[in-house]
Amino acid sequence: MSYCASRFRTIRRPSVEVKVGAVGVGGNNPLRLQSMTTSDTQDIEATVKQSVALAEVGCEIVRITAPNPAAARCLREIRQKISAAGFAHVPLVADIHFLPQAAMEAVEHVEKVRVNPGNYADKKKFNVREYSDADYERELQRLHDAFSPLVRRAKELGRALRIGTNHGSLSDRVMNRYGDTPLGMVESALEFVRICETHGFHDIILSMKASNPKVMIQAYRLLASRMDTAHRPYPLHLGVTEAGDGEDGRIKSAIGIGSLLLDGLGDTIRVSLTEDSVYEIPVARAIADKAMSLWRDAPQGMTNSESRKTNDSGQSSIRHSSFVTGHSGAGQHDSVDPFQFTRRESVALQLGEACAIGPEQPPRVIVRASLAELADPSSAVHSQKLKDTPIEGVLVPIATTADLASVGASLDPATTSPAFVVLELAAAITPADLKAKIETSKIPLVLLRRFTAGDSTILHDFAVFVRGSGHVLACDIVPGDFPSLAAALRQLGDTNTIFTLSSRTASATHAVGAYRQLAEELRQIGSRAPIWIRNTPATAMQGDNSFLSKLLEVSFLTGGLLCDGLGDLVSIETEADVTRSAKLAYNVLQGAGARSSKTEFVACPSCGRTLFDLQTTTQRIRERTGHLKGVKIAIMGCIVNGPGEMADADFGYVGGAPGKINLYVGKQCVQYNLPQTGADDRLIALIKEHGKWADPAPALAPQ
Ligand code: SF4
Repeated sequence: MSYCASRFRTIRRPSVEVKVGAVGVGGNNPLRLQSMTTSDTQDIEATVKQSVALAEVGCEIVRITAPNPAAARCLREIRQKISAAGFAHVPLVADIHFLPQAAMEAVEHVEKVRVNPGNYADKKKFNVREYSDADYERELQRLHDAFSPLVRRAKELGRALRIGTNHGSLSDRVMNRYGDTPLGMVESALEFVRICETHGFHDIILSMKASNPKVMIQAYRLLASRMDTAHRPYPLHLGVTEAGDGEDGRIKSAIGIGSLLLDGLGDTIRVSLTEDSVYEIPVARAIADKAMSLWRDAPQGMTNSESRKTNDSGQSSIRHSSFVTGHSGAGQHDSVDPFQFTRRESVALQLGEACAIGPEQPPRVIVRASLAELADPSSAVHSQKLKDTPIEGVLVPIATTADLASVGASLDPATTSPAFVVLELAAAITPADLKAKIETSKIPLVLLRRFTAGDSTILHDFAVFVRGSGHVLACDIVPGDFPSLAAALRQLGDTNTIFTLSSRTASATHAVGAYRQLAEELRQIGSRAPIWIRNTPATAMQGDNSFLSKLLEVSFLTGGLLCDGLGDLVSIETEADVTRSAKLAYNVLQGAGARSSKTEFVACPSCGRTLFDLQTTTQRIRERTGHLKGVKIAIMGCIVNGPGEMADADFGYVGGAPGKINLYVGKQCVQYNLPQTGADDRLIALIKEHGKWADPAPALAPQ
């Protein structure tokens, strides 16, 4: 079962075009950017103002919540006023949970209606019980009856529908049969797709959002593989829900969305941030531009004329193409199971007493620094302030034997605080030079060198040196050079070896694909040596020196690979400031769920249903609890997505009623309707009661 044409190159998934008003989604259209208003929908002026502000910064589709029929009725005037302001071309989407009446009203006024298949017409909110096959069938019939009027009306009016599954709000029916799994998310959406298709309605867009990027990635992959074999290839709307704010929110979104876009999946995106929604658009624009830069040389999506060839049974001619039948040719896929997370099993390596690498260890963090910084005990490289985000390895360039002598002189365990040092060796440096200058170093060394197809002899010499000295060799070898070096690599073995790449390769259009190829080459020669993910200017898709661009590139490459189970060491060499480089690395590790260095916040972006100020509340709670490494706190404006959103969180702080907060421990609500004024203190008391509290570390004196 395959979900994309290639895991090494970006080949856009062919999809049918769905028109949302004047805006085409899928097919050969560019990636469309979306966001959502946060005002009370019945405050028409505020909602129009926010919608116009979004359109002005480049939002192409604006979503507005319609929590009840009264709010849905307001969409008529909102649509009129936005059009009168000069934005008639920007389609509106009504966001519906629970109430078919609200959907039936909204569909009259706006170009698209989003329904959540987990709670549409679902009265038994979040109770799980046993369903027999007969019960299940009865439920599906009930669903058919409840959803069909909306489908028929959307068809009459030429509206589009989004079937938007959320990991946290699957129906009791689906939870009972599939659990809160990616498969459950997919089945939840397909139940609704089948109802649409029985009415000959195909203007459908699908989404599979989750706050955990790994779950979200797996769900979309599974959806693509399932949908395109049995249904039309409907467009996909991508998003990581409740990603939070700031750097962390951007990273989580970029990991999930970027990973899928590199595999060619996705036709429209939303970056959900707990910030004013206009700030989502520049991030979405930058992500879309990077992804679309990879479309240039790849076959494009399904054309409109091809989409019209789709037959009446809902199946498409492209279901017989390489996209769905598996591999589109030799070397397009690897052996990773893309539907289930498993960390690649690497051998354990010990770099001195302080730092182990391997299957039981979190990915280690390396920063790039100069020889002068390494030699200066007061430089940030040696800072003790980075207690929870320590620099574990420092990478320094060695261009000459004089550099080698100088680094050898500065390698004093008393003043060198990183656990190990990586020497990036120029081609002219030989094992004999190393023997003369640094063989007896008391600091564990990793010798990084690029080897090409004709380097068998020198690779052999390095292998002999590291075996004799106890140091480690990091081989930078592009996958295409593996066959000619295979004999020397086998001789080298796994015990003193790491593999890495510092650039993209000719056979992969992005560095994620190149690293996947590298892992595959290692598997084929039987090597379980650790893999070091290097983010360098040459691994980037688009050169741009802004911090946002670097953050997105790192999230795509490092985050995407970690979600595939690849990566034992990480370095962000595109960021010159070593402290920022280390912090960014730890934030990406945290976003990918690979290593925790601080509290994790799952915070919704807020919308017209929000029952308290998400932004200030999140900041307030972060100030008091941000140091609780390994603790996950969910902050949600309402309970619409259900306690399932708290599935991974240790504690939940959720709007229960205006000014009232419900507190959760895991999925269990333990305190209802607390006045918001005392809710922060009660949350902290709960954290203490459950043994998860630690006092913040005293600030270190300036160095
Ligand atoms: S959880 Fe947040 S974004 Fe989602 S519906 Fe509730 S208030 Fe809106």
